[in-house]
Amino acid sequence: MRLRPEPESPPTAGLPLGLGDLAGPVPAPLTALAANWLGVDEVQLECSGTAALTVALSALAEHSPSRREVAIPAFTCPLVPLAVRRAGLVPRLVDVMPGHFDMDPQRLADACSEQTLAVVPTHLGGRLADVATANAIAHPVGALTIEDAAQALGARLDGGFAGTRGDIGFFSLAAGKGLSIFEGGLLVAQDEAWRARFRRASRRIARWSPTWELRRTIELIGYATLYRPKGMALAYGNSMRRSLRDGDLLGAAGEHFSADFPLHTVGRWRRAVGARAFPRLAAFIEATTAQARARLPRLDSIPGIHAFTDEGGTWPYLMLRMPDERTRDAVLTRLWSSRHGVARMFIHALPDYDYLGTMPGGDDVPNARDFAARTLTITNSPWLDDASFEHVCAVIEATVAIA
Ligand SMILES: *Cc1c(COP(=O)(O)O)cnc(C)c1O
Repeated sequence: MRLRPEPESPPTAGLPLGLGDLAGPVPAPLTALAANWLGVDEVQLECSGTAALTVALSALAEHSPSRREVAIPAFTCPLVPLAVRRAGLVPRLVDVMPGHFDMDPQRLADACSEQTLAVVPTHLGGRLADVATANAIAHPVGALTIEDAAQALGARLDGGFAGTRGDIGFFSLAAGKGLSIFEGGLLVAQDEAWRARFRRASRRIARWSPTWELRRTIELIGYATLYRPKGMALAYGNSMRRSLRDGDLLGAAGEHFSADFPLHTVGRWRRAVGARAFPRLAAFIEATTAQARARLPRLDSIPGIHAFTDEGGTWPYLMLRMPDERTRDAVLTRLWSSRHGVARMFIHALPDYDYLGTMPGGDDVPNARDFAARTLTITNSPWLDDASFEHVCAVIEATVAIA
């Protein structure tokens, strides 16, 4: 182990925790702070974003036993289909639009039927999905929308917050995803009848677990301690580089997920840590938004690549679509193992994770596969200074030029 680790940027801009977040007065409960900020009546806390989705789907499944399918994008976090199955339901994969992460509306309409329980429009990396269109397709067939805003806490969409534009929404409080209590999730719903069902479903499936809470407490202390430039090699970089050397791309991206993910309540101490950090979140989003907006023109100056942008989104990282897979991989060969926070989003389209097995719709998702093959991300952490960002851009520019 290096005694004097080199500074390293995390792959996403998470709100750094200070040691002052670990003890002291709590301004208000975390759920009250989140509800107030998001402008909703109530927020339900679960032990992960995946758990929040599982709780919501379990309640929906119980209420509408004849509907067994949940339509999800074919390019999203592999935990999403695992949550669908954990709720006893079937994930139906919907291809995305060409060169994009959002579901193709025509494909979504084709996938929806009287079998469809819910549709999951998904914001990725703070970039916004079209929730209004998902609502317009889901509602006439009697399905509800569940906005996956795991990576978009604080993003604004259609006159409100992303996550509150569908019938139901959830956010992740996992490490690196904005505000973190190491693992956590927030669940919101427009309708009080659904909120009551979600509270009951949570009491049924998420029990207090001293062992999980102890583990998450230790992990959160480690995160608060190491989430700084000189700690990132130990917290993230060294194991990521080891995985890359071993050719374990899923390991490097942290995607060795298990169908047996934990479901338990979140203890009082971790809730208090989140509550103490919460008041800093809005200013952090403002600062990272300003940084991203200042950096986009440099990316736009590189011919052949596309940097995703929109009004209102948040900026954990900058999402780039490269001309082809070969160029993307050539850039990653030079930059993934660097300390500059360059990485991939999800390694595969969902049908290509062996551990997920087959899912209906999975045999016809060319756009999702193309998107997985051509995208990369550059961290928007404030720790990536201008000189390092310029180095990343110069490598991309040179690689595209010779491709
Ligand atoms: C991370 C993520 C999830 C799951 O959230 P966890 O809090 O990690 O369980 C779901 N959907 C998307 C798009 C994600 O990025």
